[in-house]
Amino acid sequence: MKIGIDIGGSHIACGIVEKNGNLIAKETRDIDINEIKEEKRTENLIMNIIDNEIKTLLEEHDYTIGDISKIGISVPGSPKGSRIRNLVNLNIKEFDIGKVLEEKYNTVVKIKNDGKCAGIAEKQYGSLKKYNDCIFLCLGTGVGSAVFLNGELLEPKQNPGFEFGHMIIEKNGNSCNCGKKGCFETYASMKRFKARAIKELNLEANTEAEEVQNYIRKNIEKEKVKKFVDEYLENVSIGIANIINIFEPEAIAFGGSFSYYEDIFLPILDEKLKDRIFNKDTKVRLLPAKLKNDAGIIGATEI
Ligand SMILES: [Zn+2]
Repeated sequence: MKIGIDIGGSHIACGIVEKNGNLIAKETRDIDINEIKEEKRTENLIMNIIDNEIKTLLEEHDYTIGDISKIGISVPGSPKGSRIRNLVNLNIKEFDIGKVLEEKYNTVVKIKNDGKCAGIAEKQYGSLKKYNDCIFLCLGTGVGSAVFLNGELLEPKQNPGFEFGHMIIEKNGNSCNCGKKGCFETYASMKRFKARAIKELNLEANTEAEEVQNYIRKNIEKEKVKKFVDEYLENVSIGIANIINIFEPEAIAFGGSFSYYEDIFLPILDEKLKDRIFNKDTKVRLLPAKLKNDAGIIGATEI
């Protein structure tokens, strides 16, 4: 069996993955690094969480360390070789986590960008299974992605690439965490969607994402809410049309919390794209991702 690890901005999840991407168990812990200033201590915290999760999983499922044939890690930022790099939310510049895990568990360790891992899982076992030219887009805290042409994941040599989140769609637009202005992410991410919903729909400042969703669902016929959702999808459609015009995918699967709104968002987005796509005969299926929060863990074991 394989161990898949999903390192997120605020949690770390480990899972046991058996044949055919079958996730049989997972352990998730929140990680709070606000109190920790030193990078070394954050590294230790991450390792502690991973070790404890793997220990629990092995014990509960009658496995030993010797049964692990591979460890795969899904991680934000730009991992290279055995190193995770540029994890803004976890305050890590570079950490050779692959080396540490390889020595400890005496097995192969592979690491890949989280958008690519989730995309691989959706392509192999999820909503993109039957498409050769397809794209996975995760709209959550940021924007993650993976592009497949002729059934193969496109992988540039230098960096993970396909940073659709930092494609500029407005010359003097919103300021982005990357230091630039007008990035797609600042219009399309669900983090920004939630912040804007709270402001423009006059919700309480600490409203949770789920409550925002409930409010929008309940009031979708009200002019103000309708206009708010429409404006959001107008911006999303600009970015998606650019992506479609470049790659001509047969299907795009949407992951992240965007997919919780699939019944509302996808039909409107589909309509808006008709006017924006360059080749009028291009047909693109817009689909919700299937594997949800498990995609990172499953995909990590396939790299
Ligand atoms: Zn940016």
